[in-house]
Amino acid sequence: MVKIKACKKCNSIVHGEEVCPICKTHNHLSKSFVGMVIIREPKDSKIAKRLNINRPGKYAIKVR
Ligand SMILES: [Zn+2]
Repeated sequence: MVKIKACKKCNSIVHGEEVCPICKTHNHLSKSFVGMVIIREPKDSKIAKRLNINRPGKYAIKVR
């Protein structure tokens, strides 16, 4: 099974990788996160705005 983690810095969901593909950080990945949202149009999404997301992708709502 692929380990799913979320980046504490940008909320991006990471599948089995050790480096966040969005912000390229190594040590901000967390296994404990809440919720998952797919952002297609960051400009038109209230959730994207609230989470400070400006790229389409899969994101966690809350990362602990
Ligand atoms: Zn990140």
